[in-house]
Amino acid sequence: MWLKYGVAPSGELAGIDEVVRGKTNLACLYCGGGLTAKKGKVKEHHFAHTEETCKPVSQRIKTKAFPSLPLYDNFTIQLKGEELEQLKVLWKEYGAQNYAIPKDLVNFRWELKGLLDSEGDRTYQFTHLGKIPVGALPLALFNRVQEPLLLSELMKLERSVEVAEAAGLSCFDERLADLQIYRAQLRRILVNSLYFLEVKADGHSFYKIGVTTRHIDQRIAEVQRDVKAHYSDVTVNLLGLWEHRGNVELYFKHRYKGFNYRIGKLTEYFQFPNVKAVLQDLYGMEAKVLSDVEVDAIDDGRKRI
Ligand SMILES: [Zn+2]
Repeated sequence: MWLKYGVAPSGELAGIDEVVRGKTNLACLYCGGGLTAKKGKVKEHHFAHTEETCKPVSQRIKTKAFPSLPLYDNFTIQLKGEELEQLKVLWKEYGAQNYAIPKDLVNFRWELKGLLDSEGDRTYQFTHLGKIPVGALPLALFNRVQEPLLLSELMKLERSVEVAEAAGLSCFDERLADLQIYRAQLRRILVNSLYFLEVKADGHSFYKIGVTTRHIDQRIAEVQRDVKAHYSDVTVNLLGLWEHRGNVELYFKHRYKGFNYRIGKLTEYFQFPNVKAVLQDLYGMEAKVLSDVEVDAIDDGRKRI
């Protein structure tokens, strides 16, 4: 895990995606040191200190303890490789078939993590949470699992800032930086709209999922240009646009990774044998109505720190 946000002289947070590589005018939220944007081809893009890395940041890199959105870009629920593979087999043989799972096949850690539960008898079934690592949970239900977690993590971080402040603890600045980084991530998924496009290119049909904060027509023009580098006759149709649903993009890619269709370097395209089922999945999502806490999280990002 890396440092992916810095603070501009105006007081606003900027993400690594918003800057060009090299030395920036951004400062580390934890120590105020200058930051350099590392945007190479090997490591994930991130900020490094232009001078020496401060202790809070090096600790967070080492222990993977930067605050991050629950179930946003990682869906393994901390299962180790083998456990995850076993869970996938169990899903394929039992869950997907709607068969009850015999108790002797259940790893107790799965039950502890709330991935499987029993209804009092000796058999088990997958919970909503348990269907996420195997990508089997529909998008509407995914939102219902993830949204409360997003907010409870926010509350946890806010509380720890309040406690540190009230008690005059020396970790107050660090805790505040954690909260700001978390809020910046939350803000980003809330201000983004999820879009789903149909691309027709030289007789082929494929689909693209993505997020944008700009007008969708601008994004469509870019997609058309990208695909035109590989095909001659290209039309792009908008099949759906969901406001404030930036949270879903990566779970969608996880859920449908088996249908991913690479076009050269472009990785966000899919080919579906039955796109109707995918549309039903997307349109099954409730319209996102921002709560007061979420409106506050968006506004906070615009305020000066
Ligand atoms: Zn620092």
